Amino acid sequence: MKLKFCGAAGTTTGSQHLLEVNGTRILLDCGLYQGRRKDAYQVNCCFPHFDPKDIDCVVLSHAHIDHSGNLPNLCSKGFEGNIYATFATRDLCQIMLADSAHIQESDVRWLNKKLKKKGKPPVEPLYNKRDAEKCLKQFVNVGYDRPMPIAPGVTIRFFDAGHILGSAQILLEIDDQEDGKKKRMLFSGDVGRGDNDILNDPVPVKDIDYVLMESTYGGREHELGTRADDRIADILGEAIKRGGKIIIPCFAVERTQQILYVLHQLFEDKRIPEVPVYVDSPLAVNATEIFRLHPECFNKEVNDFLYEKRNPFGFEGLT
Ligand SMILES: [Zn+2]
Repeated sequence: MKLKFCGAAGTTTGSQHLLEVNGTRILLDCGLYQGRRKDAYQVNCCFPHFDPKDIDCVVLSHAHIDHSGNLPNLCSKGFEGNIYATFATRDLCQIMLADSAHIQESDVRWLNKKLKKKGKPPVEPLYNKRDAEKCLKQFVNVGYDRPMPIAPGVTIRFFDAGHILGSAQILLEIDDQEDGKKKRMLFSGDVGRGDNDILNDPVPVKDIDYVLMESTYGGREHELGTRADDRIADILGEAIKRGGKIIIPCFAVERTQQILYVLHQLFEDKRIPEVPVYVDSPLAVNATEIFRLHPECFNKEVNDFLYEKRNPFGFEGLT
């Protein structure tokens, strides 16, 4: 069994790890490296550590672009195998990869205008919307805690990582033909802190021989208690009293839905007066639709909310 770090090692973003076992090449994540344009293009365009045609399958931990964003390029460069992911990850990838393609295309349009002025030849985007759409056909959806054989002597199982909708830690149960030993390897993906407003807590996975672990915030201490409702109630309450307006810059996926749910609760509990709320992002609106389709990812509180036929992410006054 051999493991190679092809990204997100010594740096953040561009998560790609190549596992070679029993004559099979398994790629864990296929993220986009997000750095300065020129460096990023070099790193992302040509897969310097392997040939996409030689990869047998991809296992994807979650839909964030630094973990999934180079899949359309991998597929258009000759990867033909399955991409294993949870149902919610696949659905989020549908909108997030399309959005990423849109960014690649508009970025190149802008760059080509500048190159033309300098008399230089135009460049191609890393991938386009059609590539993003095409790679979705290679997805195979797997539910949490369902064993799925993906290669000779290799079975995977997803466990909730509590990071974003559909996020998973990947357990690989390996029957290594090289030394005849059974091994349990865990790829953590990105791990949530738990006690999340909407998601399940990360599931502890036991009896692991090898852990491949993200450590982006490994050197930092976070405040205890990540729930935002008290602070939001204070800030909004004060601004509303003054007749002010509040602008909340927000990631389109996860954070927007989390904020909407918190606002819904604050209005319902009459902790703040009901005011109009506007979500100004097509990606966030599309993501919210996908959130509603995946109750399997929600904690008990949100599920109870849904059970009473209430929409956690929608309320009167929301545009
Ligand atoms: Zn992430």
